[in-house]
Amino acid sequence: MNTIKGAPISPGIAIGKVYLKKTALEEISFTMAENKKDEKKRFQDSRNLAVKQVEEIYQEMLRSKGEQEASIFLAHIEMLNDTEFINGVENILEESGCTSEWAVKTVRDNFVGIFESMDDEYMRERAMDIKDISGRVIRILKGNDNEESLKLTEPVIIISDDLAPSDTAQMKPELVLGIINETGGPTSHAAIIARMLGIPFCICPKITILVKNGQMLAFDGEEGKIELEVTEGILKDYRRKQEAFHQKNLQLEKLRGTKSITKDGYEILLAGNIGAPKDADKVLQQDGHSIGLFRTEFLYMNRKDSPTEEEQFAAYKEVAEKMQGEPVVIRTLDIGGDKEVDYLKIPKEENPFLGYRAIRLCLDRIPFWKVQLRALLRASVFGNIHIMFPMIVSMEELLKAKKILEEVKRELRRIKIDFNEKVPVGMMMETPAAALMADVFAKEVDFFSIGTNDLIQYTMAVDRMNGKVAHLYSQYDPAVLRLVQKIVDSAHENGIWAGICGEAAADKALIPFWVGLGLDELSMSPVSILPTREKIQGLSKADCENLVEKILLLRTGKEIEETLRNYR
Ligand code: PEP
Ligand code: MG
Repeated sequence: MNTIKGAPISPGIAIGKVYLKKTALEEISFTMAENKKDEKKRFQDSRNLAVKQVEEIYQEMLRSKGEQEASIFLAHIEMLNDTEFINGVENILEESGCTSEWAVKTVRDNFVGIFESMDDEYMRERAMDIKDISGRVIRILKGNDNEESLKLTEPVIIISDDLAPSDTAQMKPELVLGIINETGGPTSHAAIIARMLGIPFCICPKITILVKNGQMLAFDGEEGKIELEVTEGILKDYRRKQEAFHQKNLQLEKLRGTKSITKDGYEILLAGNIGAPKDADKVLQQDGHSIGLFRTEFLYMNRKDSPTEEEQFAAYKEVAEKMQGEPVVIRTLDIGGDKEVDYLKIPKEENPFLGYRAIRLCLDRIPFWKVQLRALLRASVFGNIHIMFPMIVSMEELLKAKKILEEVKRELRRIKIDFNEKVPVGMMMETPAAALMADVFAKEVDFFSIGTNDLIQYTMAVDRMNGKVAHLYSQYDPAVLRLVQKIVDSAHENGIWAGICGEAAADKALIPFWVGLGLDELSMSPVSILPTREKIQGLSKADCENLVEKILLLRTGKEIEETLRNYR
């Protein structure tokens, strides 16, 4: 078995020597400390030194790479100073009398366990950051703090069991041909940085057992294919792929500044999905037209209490200004379901996706929600902010949400605070109930944005987080596609626009179908923007319309997927 399959994370072809980097954390065993008091001091000294080191890295990164990439280290400093982390370690030291290495490792394992069991992918990825800061403290405790984690002297492929974000952020990109990591996912910081730097990246569990330091290896970051033995034939094949990839990138670069328009003149706006104001830079870097989805719940996560009106106002204003008058669709809080926020004290539920989440929670906690609405309205004078309500299922809900927005507007008028009186208001289309009533809803809003991630889950009755039924979760199912058609047609019949902001928006096989349906906007992760533009430019709207007719006559998701994949 010389070819294995990993999960593709960042595209590109890597051929080169392996640089194996294994973390030493697991080698720590339980040992009693000589003296509890001294041990606590030892921990505090090491932690303080770790903070100092990270502060230096932060300053260095700020100078060399800018605010966006440096910001990870601010988060690391916060984690090192976090009272839960510190108290956790000190309690273990007090209760068990063990060494600080063991106490830090135990707290780290607890945190990692909690983060990794979360349904939300973003939160799961935060486990990597906990590992990173704990690893630093342990290295200091062991007296290895001068050990540079990545000593690269020649171009290599880094293979690691647990590559830390600080490794990826600090490494010299010109010496990194590619990265294969055993853990993480597409939204881990390591993956984000790799993608930003254009370094091929795969995730492959147990890869460190299969390779040796210094051996040759080749892999394809787009397909996830990894060649453990590089024969002459493989080498030739991968060199050819590398050249093709390079040519392809040159071609994509040329698309900057061009429109996402079909051969017969149909234009779709390609927008970016973001979770924080700084992500808007990525959208602009990839030549995105606008922001199609700002998931504001990320502003509420990873903290002890909810963001203030001022904090939110600053975040929304920043994005609005960055996008210079182009649309910025800001979704009001979509918490609950898989996204948990402790301080909101949402009771545990049997079926959280069918329970107290998103607009339901906001309509139940109106004073709390009004803080967000006020911040949004105040920011609306700084750009082209659109307000969007998530997970609407009934007209009652929509009307109530609009009424509350009107109340906030009245309150602002009364105290003479400016806002855009004509701020567009839209709704997410993510439930079959909303889709079936789209013609009615379309008379009440300025736009629809289809959340396929949830629309599929609610249409197919498949929990989007449950691996056991994942085979039933399909964006190609005729039921899902018919609902999307109904939504788009209803929008257009009523003179409003319709977009998609779920993951299916950037599914290459589905692009001709979206074009054929006449979608106005597709919003996606920034890296997908240029490849999607390329795909659109090769299509003809008229042909895509014929394809839609053909597809909607098919009876199964499988047939539909096959037809779409064979469509040229
Ligand atoms: C969706 O459901 O498609 C969507 C974009 O929202 P989220 O993934 O945040 O639930
Ligand atoms: Mg959703």
